[in-house]
Amino acid sequence: MRDGLGTIGTYRNRSLTEILMDDSRFLIRGGDFEPAYMTLFRTGELFRRSRAGIRHLQQCRVCPRDCDVDRLQNETALCNTGRRAWVSSYFPHMGEEDCLRGINGSGTIFFSMCNLKCVFCQNYDISQHQDGVEADAEDLANMMLELQARGCHNINFVTPEHVVPQILEALPLAVQMGLRLPLVYNTGAFDSLESLALMDGVVDIYMPDFKYWTAEDSAKYLKATKYPDVARRVIKEMHRQTGPLKFDENGLAKRGVLLRHLVMPDSEDNTRAIMQWVADDVSPDTYVNIMDQYRPAGKVTPRRFPKLARRTTSGEHQRALEIAREAGLTRIDERWTEVPAGLY
Ligand code: SF4
Repeated sequence: MRDGLGTIGTYRNRSLTEILMDDSRFLIRGGDFEPAYMTLFRTGELFRRSRAGIRHLQQCRVCPRDCDVDRLQNETALCNTGRRAWVSSYFPHMGEEDCLRGINGSGTIFFSMCNLKCVFCQNYDISQHQDGVEADAEDLANMMLELQARGCHNINFVTPEHVVPQILEALPLAVQMGLRLPLVYNTGAFDSLESLALMDGVVDIYMPDFKYWTAEDSAKYLKATKYPDVARRVIKEMHRQTGPLKFDENGLAKRGVLLRHLVMPDSEDNTRAIMQWVADDVSPDTYVNIMDQYRPAGKVTPRRFPKLARRTTSGEHQRALEIAREAGLTRIDERWTEVPAGLY
C-alpha cells in the first residue's frame, strides 16, 4: 500500500488492467508513447511557436478578455501578469485524479492570478494576488526538470490561460535539457482559440473545468458573461486536437481530454445541461470527473451569495453522477482501489 491509494484489489470486481484492455481505443501502450511536443521539437516548429507566443504579448489577447495591453513592456490588466509568469508553487501533487498522480504525483506548477474572477474560488489567495515568485523561461524550464527528476508522471500547468506564451517560451529549453513527460493543461476553460492554436501538438492532456452553463450564472459567479460560449468552443477544440482520454497499461493518462465539473449547491439543472452537451456535442467517450469538494470560499458569504453559502451534500454528488450517466457518459472518474503493478 502506498500514498493512501489502497491495497491491491479490484475496481468494481474487475482489475484495472482488465478494464483498460477492454477497449483498445483508449489504450496507448507505454512503449508507443512520446509526448506530443517532441515531434514539433524535431521539426523546429516548437521554437517557432515559442517566438509566435511572445509576439502575442505585445497587444495581449492571450485570453478572451482581449485587454490589448503591451505585456512585453510589463503593462498589466485583468490578470495582473506582465512579461513574466508568476508561480505560486510547484510540487508533486497527490490530490489530482489517480490517472494523473499515479504513485509519485502529478508535477503541478501553480500559476498565480487567473483570468476568471470566480466569487467562490477555492484558491483565492493564489488566483487573485501576485503570490509566489516571478519566473522567467529558464526558471520554468528548471521547475519542469526538477519535477521530472522527482518522479512525477506529468507536468501539470494549473491556471495557464494567461501565460501560454511564457510556457511556450520555456518548453524548448526544457526539452533540450531532457524533459520527456506529458503536459497537462489544467484550465477553467476560459481560453482563447489563438492560444489553443499555439498549443496544438504541444499539450498531451487538456483538463478543462466546465463550471457554468448560462450567461446569467457566469456573469454573477465568474464575472465573465461570455464564459459558456467560450467554454463550449474551446472544449470542442481541445477534443479535436487530442480526442478522448487514453491511458497506458498502468492506468496513467497519456493523451486526450479529461473534463472536470465541480458540483455546486442546488445546481442539478446546470450539471444536466453541461453533461448532455458533452455527451451529444463533444463525445459520449469523454472522460469526466464529477468533483464533490465544493465549499464556500473566496467572496462567498450568506448575505452576498446565499445559494453558494454551504457545502454540497453527498446526495447532490451522487445525483450529479447519475445525471452524467443518464446523459450517456460512461467514462466517469473514480478513485483506484488497486495500484497497477507496473507502477512499482
Ligand atoms: S492574458 Fe491577461 S492581459 Fe491578456 S487578455 Fe487575458 S486577462 Fe487580459
